[in-house]
Amino acid sequence: MAKKKVVLNFPPQLIDQPITYRLVKDYDLVVNILRARITPQEWGRMVVELNGNGSRLDEAMNFLADLGVVVEPLAGEILWQEERCIHCTACISPCPTHALNLDRTTMTVAFDRERCIACELCLNVCPYRAIEVAFE
Ligand code: SF4
Ligand code: SF4
Repeated sequence: MAKKKVVLNFPPQLIDQPITYRLVKDYDLVVNILRARITPQEWGRMVVELNGNGSRLDEAMNFLADLGVVVEPLAGEILWQEERCIHCTACISPCPTHALNLDRTTMTVAFDRERCIACELCLNVCPYRAIEVAFE
């Protein structure tokens, strides 16, 4: 058995296709969706863990590439180091899922890990290195 954590990037025309179903049915994979952001008319992004036979996993990767799904390895989990954060809000607008968000009552920034799709758009924005990747 092989295991792989990857990020699947779907072009808009594939958003409504049953791709994860095909991975399960045609390639005998166990698909664990860790995070997803799917918006009509836009690219979708899904962080998944795939488990299955090694050669079937390779075939599934080829299937995805042929369809036009861009597959990236997941570098690691995003970590937010609260003690380094000065709540400057620079990371709020680049974050597409509002995983980094501002509480307007307290004017403090918080990180919602469940919303993070590991797109890394916030990484180079933070001047205080409060956002890092935890490599696996
Ligand atoms: S990696 Fe950063 S920008 Fe991307 S979803 Fe996670 S917190 Fe937001
Ligand atoms: S950019 Fe860095 S310091 Fe500024 S709010 Fe975001 S995490 Fe905090």
